[in-house]
Amino acid sequence: MGNLTGDNREWLCREVFRAMEEDKIKVYYQPQFDALTGKLTGAEALARWISEEGSVVMPGSFIPALEQGDEITQLDWHMLRKVCLFLKWQQERDGHTVPIAVNFSRQHVKEERFVSKLCEMVDTYGIPHNKIEIEITESALVGQEEKISDWIEGIRRQGFRVAIDDFGSGLSSLSLVKDISADVLKIDKSLLSHNCEDEKERIVLESIFYFAHRLKLTTVAEGVETREQLGFLRTCSCKEIQGFLFAKPMEQEAFAALCRKGKAAAEQEDILKIQAPSSATQMLLDAVFIRYPLVILANLTRNSFYMMAYEDFTSHCCPSTGVFDELIAHGASTMHPEDRELFRTTFQIENLMAAHDRGEQWVSVVTRQMGDDGIYRRVETTDYFVKNSSVDDVLVIALCHNLDER
Ligand code: C2E
Ligand code: MG
Ligand code: MG
Repeated sequence: MGNLTGDNREWLCREVFRAMEEDKIKVYYQPQFDALTGKLTGAEALARWISEEGSVVMPGSFIPALEQGDEITQLDWHMLRKVCLFLKWQQERDGHTVPIAVNFSRQHVKEERFVSKLCEMVDTYGIPHNKIEIEITESALVGQEEKISDWIEGIRRQGFRVAIDDFGSGLSSLSLVKDISADVLKIDKSLLSHNCEDEKERIVLESIFYFAHRLKLTTVAEGVETREQLGFLRTCSCKEIQGFLFAKPMEQEAFAALCRKGKAAAEQEDILKIQAPSSATQMLLDAVFIRYPLVILANLTRNSFYMMAYEDFTSHCCPSTGVFDELIAHGASTMHPEDRELFRTTFQIENLMAAHDRGEQWVSVVTRQMGDDGIYRRVETTDYFVKNSSVDDVLVIALCHNLDER
């Protein structure tokens, strides 16, 4: 629909408001499922206008008109109220609910007291805040990032989840996602072709999922219609699926029945058959991190390092990337005075290089390191020489673990 002007737009807005009063604007729920297990994880609330003749008018026919002004905000609040009413009813009747995502237009950023209004409405119905997810379309985030970022922070501080909707549909920028701290990234359906066969498309999608997961965002793929798409999305470790393959948007009663049945959208398959090598690698890494809470990748040729994992190790303050020599000096300073020299000489770059040239596969040492609590513990540090096919640099992976109980 093109831009409506003047009378037409006003007339349409008036009609929508009348429909809201007459309860003709309904909430349809489109379920979201776990990509691997098929379990119901939540739903998105989508507006539907039931016309005089009883036909269903899609949001594409009226939302753009409301969005040209700020009338859209009233529709969004109307939708949220109806979602709260539904959740309250479901909570009382079935005792079980799933989180519901509600679309909010960018016009709300201008709204004063937005967060308190949100809390007031949700609290009136006694709905836990984590059952409501606020969806903001990606294009709404472009421009005035700082203001929007504060606005989103305010929403999240109250315990609501925030999703960036339609990611990849427009002027997406990766820095936008970096700067805005959301919980969920919804990947737009325009990025998915029928069977995800195109090599370039696959690379783009793999990269999006990779960076989203690194940023600890929950990923939802929208508009999934085919088994091929599902298969590919699983290889990207996509977390949740929303699409016609599993379910179309449905009326409240049908959705409540689906929640009650609690049946998975698909037969559960053996995880080992459907998971991608990338997710297997992640699991392998998780296992490594359990045993070795400190893992460092270092480039001896360039005297640099990068910390791959660092959790609950003996001491907490440690740089995450930088100059390898300085890391060793820092490490040595935390060792027992009698072990400092041993640590320093073992991991001196020249000595490691010499060991590498002799064909050794690793270098290992046990030293006593002081923890944040002032107690020394025996720590085993092993540097494994590894190769990367595209460079000749000498690389090591350092795995460190604590031999004493903490
Ligand atoms: P959206 O928020 O991105 O919602 C997802 C849209 O994708 C929905 O379209 C849904 O029906 C559609 N969809 C989901 N799975 C599939 C699939 O497998 N294939 C295809 N072809 N489509 C799929 P719908 O309901 O027509 O809504 C369109 C847009 O209207 C929404 O896009 C949202 O931006 C807007 N909208 C809907 N309700 C509201 C509302 O209450 N407030 C605001 N501000 N916007 C709303
Ligand atoms: Mg949405
Ligand atoms: Mg969307």
